[in-house]
Amino acid sequence: MAASGPEEIPAFARDHVASVLLSAEEIQAAIARIGAGISHDYVGRDPVLVAVLKGSAPLIADLLRAIDIPVSVDFIAISSYGPSARNSGVVRLLKDLDQPIEGRHVLVIEDIIDTGLTLHYILRTLRLRRPATLEVGTLFNKPARRLVNIPLRYVGFDLPDRFVVGYGLDYHERYRNLPFLCVLKPEVYGG
Ligand code: 5GP
Repeated sequence: MAASGPEEIPAFARDHVASVLLSAEEIQAAIARIGAGISHDYVGRDPVLVAVLKGSAPLIADLLRAIDIPVSVDFIAISSYGPSARNSGVVRLLKDLDQPIEGRHVLVIEDIIDTGLTLHYILRTLRLRRPATLEVGTLFNKPARRLVNIPLRYVGFDLPDRFVVGYGLDYHERYRNLPFLCVLKPEVYGG
């Protein structure tokens, strides 16, 4: 794929995907900027990056390589209680951290923040474990539908209120493997 210019939607995604919103190059530039910020802000603090599966998988892989200070990584996996509860903020912890975070400088890495309810739950859970600091970085932010105010230390992009896929984000578990960010066709997800 060319490093610049319009990116072509691959055949396997053309049924559902309408257009490219952010190119792979734009995404990688934002990750480089966030990585440089983390390297600067957390120097001498041995931070733990906590990535939220599954959507943050490509992001954490690229972000780790954009950080040039000592850093640890750990993962949590969560799920809402079924589709109807998606915006209820009731979240189930499917996989907990491997290591304790008491006294550590913890930076939660999210793929996308929409209402903020999922992240609110995650932060509440992690705060109980008494980290030294607890902050958040997200690649994609959709401020239009925010229900809880959460301070964000690092933001890659503010997005319009559209359902997006690619770069880790799915539509019924598909399209996480697109290296760029796309919007779905309006008929697929109501615009
Ligand atoms: P929140 O709790 O902030 O409303 O939602 C967070 C979760 O909803 C994200 O981690 C993600 O799984 C899902 N989500 C929110 N907006 C989008 C979107 O535009 N596309 C996709 N694929 N998932 C989204």
